[in-house]
Amino acid sequence: RDKTALTWSKAPCRFCGTGCSVMVATKSGRVVATHGDVKAEVNRGLNCVKGYFLSKIMYGGDRLTTPLLRMKDGAYAKDGEFTPVSWDTAFDVMAEKFKAVLRDKGPTAVGMFGSGQWTVWEGYAALKLFKAGFRTNNIDPNARHCMASAVGGFMRTFGMDEPMGCYDDIEQADAFFLWGSNMAEMHPILWTRLTDRRLSAPHVRVGVLSTFEHRCFDLADIPMVFKPQTDLVLLNFIANHIIQTGRVNRDFVRKHTTFRRGNTDIGYGLRPEHPLEQAAQNADNAGGSTDMTFEDYAAFVADYTLDKAHEMSGVPKERLLEMAEAYADPATRVVSFWTMGFNQHTRGVWANNLIYNIHLLTGKIAEPGNSPFSLTGQPSACGTAREVGTFSHRLPADLVVANPEHRAIAEKIWKLPAGAIPDTPGYHAVQQNRMLKDGKLNAYWVQVNNNMQAAANMMEETLPGYRNPDNFIVVSDAYPTVTAEAADLVLPTAMWVEKEGAYGNAERRTQFWHQLVDAPGESRSDLWQLVEFSKRFTVEEVWPEDLLAKMPEYRGKTLYDILYRNGQVDRYPLSEASPDYANHEAEAFGFYLQKGLFEEYAEFGRGHGHDLADFDRYHAERGLRWPVVDGQETRWRYREGHDPYVTAGAGVEFYGHKDGKARIFALPYEPPAESPDVDYPFWLSTGRVLEHWHSGSMTQRVPELYKAVPDALCYMHPDDAAALRLRRGDAIAVISRRGRMQTRVEMRGRNRPPRGLVFVPWFDASQLINKVTLDATDPISKQTDYKKCAVRIERI
Ligand code: SF4
Repeated sequence: RDKTALTWSKAPCRFCGTGCSVMVATKSGRVVATHGDVKAEVNRGLNCVKGYFLSKIMYGGDRLTTPLLRMKDGAYAKDGEFTPVSWDTAFDVMAEKFKAVLRDKGPTAVGMFGSGQWTVWEGYAALKLFKAGFRTNNIDPNARHCMASAVGGFMRTFGMDEPMGCYDDIEQADAFFLWGSNMAEMHPILWTRLTDRRLSAPHVRVGVLSTFEHRCFDLADIPMVFKPQTDLVLLNFIANHIIQTGRVNRDFVRKHTTFRRGNTDIGYGLRPEHPLEQAAQNADNAGGSTDMTFEDYAAFVADYTLDKAHEMSGVPKERLLEMAEAYADPATRVVSFWTMGFNQHTRGVWANNLIYNIHLLTGKIAEPGNSPFSLTGQPSACGTAREVGTFSHRLPADLVVANPEHRAIAEKIWKLPAGAIPDTPGYHAVQQNRMLKDGKLNAYWVQVNNNMQAAANMMEETLPGYRNPDNFIVVSDAYPTVTAEAADLVLPTAMWVEKEGAYGNAERRTQFWHQLVDAPGESRSDLWQLVEFSKRFTVEEVWPEDLLAKMPEYRGKTLYDILYRNGQVDRYPLSEASPDYANHEAEAFGFYLQKGLFEEYAEFGRGHGHDLADFDRYHAERGLRWPVVDGQETRWRYREGHDPYVTAGAGVEFYGHKDGKARIFALPYEPPAESPDVDYPFWLSTGRVLEHWHSGSMTQRVPELYKAVPDALCYMHPDDAAALRLRRGDAIAVISRRGRMQTRVEMRGRNRPPRGLVFVPWFDASQLINKVTLDATDPISKQTDYKKCAVRIERI
């Protein structure tokens, strides 16, 4: 065989939740080229600029290739210098620290932070290690920063997570409304599909809502810049307009919905029927659910008139009416897209509930072209963070730790004694930082994210915890990020096609790839790290005697034995792995570990509305949208004829709730956590840019992407700049009550804020905007609002 020839194989893109498929060329052990996969339904041969440069993300000059431990005088020291060590030494020190914390302070003092960039089986392995092995629910993904509010919205309205529609809706819709979604930069391939629909079907209308003009406004037929937080008003106004103009789909509403006073219904990821779950609800939801009638609801939203919506939002009345009419008109099929503008919001769950209200009132839901559609940021935010359940309160397939029946299901599948999984939700992302700072979380492992750069209010809330002398922080990454630099131990990590993997995208599509190249040096995948580390703990060291007494056969075993190897070795032999691809992780453990983990994980959802296909099938397909029943994927859930779970004759069935009905919530406007004042007169909004993925740790190392957008700039209105005597390119400080960062003024280009608002992206490690942002969270989802805080601008 000619070893210099190109070998092509498919893989999903490493970056956003769109989930494009990419053809990857390897030669002599390196990825040398990629192109969009023409066989892929999602992207039809296209990629965005990040996808086109995927071949370069693994080859940055400063790639980490060996474990690095802070050492002084030959031993670990918090104030030591990073020193190369072997994996054995790294795991010895790490295990010693974790064991000491578990012994002295118990399971609640250890924790982990991961992300929707874990592969499905990496997230699943992490979940098992922490929730069952170490017996702590202190594991959370950075999806908490990204779409926790979307999860809360789905769970409250439908009792089940994730969108009912799919990308096929784009080619069927007559109108699109983007609510706090800059698809042109954040989901660019979906934007090409939307643009294609708009330009090829002249009747199609596009409405774009945001607190500042961005690239999507270039296509907008109905552009709407609204005052921050007033999206809550606009959503209620549309509902009121539908009711006042007699366009409620009464038959649909009567059959398929019930009305609730929103602030008295169930909380995030919790179901109403169990008393423990009721007890676990936060104060926002205390009191249980209270039914209301349609008339009560109509009276509630009657206050949200056109005049009020216009006055509070600043959007011209004619545009508000045009939008409301598109939603109200029975003949217009409407897709609503949203991302961080809704989710990063102190009332993010409410915003999600409110958009569902509109689609439910009109019955424009769960059918081709009528779709409320939450877009996700990360490649496997759905597949790993949500479906696997790596949140601090969750288990796979929408199960939650607070429910004893759910825990029992997990304990049975995991072959664990009753009571192994703790019943209290663990620390969520923001709480983890606070607990690290307060010395209550002392042994902490971060994988697949750069939380120091990503977390809000980093100087006051994040950095102090990492440098707290009582804490031992481990960071696994491929590159030396600002998070890695703050750690005590850094573990070099294999990325993307250096391992076998699976991601789940925003339309419920699960996609697989093979290992195509070897990772450099001593780098190992997150899965290998988790599983290898588990060998360092005997069950006696981490479980109490009363639990161990229930399964005495586990005495003397390691966590590796009981969590990963148990029953899997004979069932998934190495011979099942494709001989055409390397699979060093499986070889390292002597059985097909990834397949064993996936098939075990799939047991949670099969027969319960989350059915996944067999492992091997995914390697042959460009992904499948769950539930996959009798070999068929599902494009529209809850709709008879598409979703096999809908009862024959029901037409539509929201089976996530026991009564088969979705909830329409009465939810009011509520002011933001912080607003501009005389000392801090500007709104600050933060976000991403097309060219860089999240914190830029990969894309900033691709020369073409770095040169395209090297620095994070402060976009502001020319009149604001003139009032401050600033010119384009001037150095400035962006200052809040929490901190300051330095950048330069930009008044041209892709972002055009209104007066009184500035926008700064967060990808740039040299200009950290999260020194400034506010860590106020949604009380239900615990997601941070990165879109609104008060700042002032000073020349420097
Ligand atoms: Fe597709 Fe997103 Fe990757 Fe771009 S970054 S190629 S839109 S998956």
